[in-house]
Parts: sequence; structure tokens; C-alpha cells
Amino acid sequence: MDQAWDIGRRVIVDAIELSYQIESTSGPYECVGCGCPVMPAALTSEHVTPYFRAGRQRSHLSDCQIAGDPVLVRSSGPLEPARTERLSGGVSMPYQLVRSERHEQVDPHATEDTERQASQSRTRSITTSEDQRGLREATASTIRPFCRTFIRYPNSRGILRIKLPDVDTQHYQYAFKRLDLYAITDYPHRRIFYAEVAWSSPPEFTTNTAVISLYAGDRDPHNRARVARPYRVAISWSTWGTKLRAALRREITAARREAREASGSEARSWLFFLAQQDPFEPERFWVDHHAEYAFITAHLIYPNTNRPNTRPRKLRRA
Ligand SMILES: [Zn+2]
Repeated sequence: MDQAWDIGRRVIVDAIELSYQIESTSGPYECVGCGCPVMPAALTSEHVTPYFRAGRQRSHLSDCQIAGDPVLVRSSGPLEPARTERLSGGVSMPYQLVRSERHEQVDPHATEDTERQASQSRTRSITTSEDQRGLREATASTIRPFCRTFIRYPNSRGILRIKLPDVDTQHYQYAFKRLDLYAITDYPHRRIFYAEVAWSSPPEFTTNTAVISLYAGDRDPHNRARVARPYRVAISWSTWGTKLRAALRREITAARREAREASGSEARSWLFFLAQQDPFEPERFWVDHHAEYAFITAHLIYPNTNRPNTRPRKLRRA
């Protein structure tokens, strides 16, 4: 499985985000379904996406919903929607994004105890706050757990609550926004945007940025399949150390590999990012922290009328 509960920091963590940790200040970890101890694995692997595994001595409880759904224990390969959206029975769902490691990339010693304590006191939700369905609303410190929840529970996006800094909407359905496939559009509000990665345009690495091109944007008027002016996500890494940069390169390598392996299937290679559009260059979005983006190969589905408006609108006859 790719997520676990970090007992020390009281947040849901994604195994990939642990590959960015400069110091091992997090953990121990337990299953978000049943609480059995789990360990991160493959954190620096080039070939296997990082994941969590249960120990040999104590594995998942027999009624653990996470262990019970093979989709949710998959450790690599495309992410599929859950076959059943069982949103009850004490499973922890990411609700609030709390940025507890804001300074880690600049100075690994800057994370003061006071900041950590403040974060903890805000994040008691896992043991105390349950909504009417028995769901535990938990805290996470990167967007990754939210993105996975968005993908896995397509029928519940309208009811699952979410609280992101500077994002003025309360449910998953509206906190996520797919970029317009066919045009550069103005997006006045901060959201978790997403689009397919255009791996045919390789990522560009400079001293200050790593720039990812997306398969969405203004089209060539003579060839609509061609994106003439793509959206681009600039990951500003001028303050990052070598370990963090290596972690990003590893994640990009892994995402490209997963994209190749998924070709021919319904899964696509997505980049999710929490950002605001550049007001002067609307095709550009800036992020500067590894908590703010996620590469995920997944089969995204949109039930019923939730399909985003990504194709040219056709006039419908009444
Ligand atoms: Zn479990």
C-alpha cells in the first residue's frame, strides 16, 4: 500500500513523500485501516515505487478494509478507482493539508519543536473527529494522499470534505480542477490542478527550475492533436539541496517508466499540483515545494455529470 498513518507527526503520509525526507524525523507508521505496524520500503529504488508493507509478526487485522481491497494494497502500477467505495468503518481520509515541513528544504534544522507541536495539536482529528459515516478526517502534509483519494473515490468527490490552505472550496470535487485540454484558460482561484504529462517533451532542468510540459493547452489550428502552447509547471528548486533534487529526478524517472508500462491501458500519466496560475504568463504554474505536486499513473474516471469540460462544447438540441 502506498499510504500510512505517521504516529509521530499525526499525519497521513504517502510513501513517495518519505523519499524526500532529509532527516528521518517521521514515523513510526501504522495502517490507516486497522492500525497494524507498517514499514516503508523501496524509498530510493529506481525500479519500484516506494510503498508500505505490514510486518511479518503482526499483519493486517482480518476486518481491515485497506488490506481487504486489493486495489488499495497495490504498491506500484496504475492506480485504479476502488471497486467499492466503502466510506465507513473508521478508515482515515485526508481532510486537511497542514504544511509542517515548510522550511525543511531550506534548512533541515529549521523545523522547530514549537512548529511541530502546533501542528500536532491541530491534528488530533484521527482519534477524535469522525463524521456521521464514521469516517476519520485526518491531516496530511503533502497533496499526495488527497490526490490518491480523489482518484480512488470518484463517486464520493462531492461529499468528501477537504481543507487546503488558500483554497476556497470545501469538497474534493471542486478543490481539484483539470486543465482545459484545448486552450490556455484563466484560472483565478488556487486549486489542485491536474493534466496529463507530455512526456514527448522531456522535462527541462535548469539551475533554478525543473519544468514539466503538460498535454493540454492551445492547439495548432491546422492539427488539433498537436498542443502548440502547452501548460507548463515550473518546480522552483533553487533552494533545494542535492538530496531533494535527486528525489525529484527519481520520481520523474519512475513516473516515465510507469507511463510506458501503462501505455495501451486506460491509465494515463498525470501531474497534480497545488498552485496559482502565473498572472502574466497564464500557461505557467509555479510550485516550490515537494508537498505541492504528485506524479500519479492512474485510470481517472468521472461518474455521471461530473465530467470536466475539456472538449469543445457542442451545441445541444433541447
Ligand atoms: Zn490494515
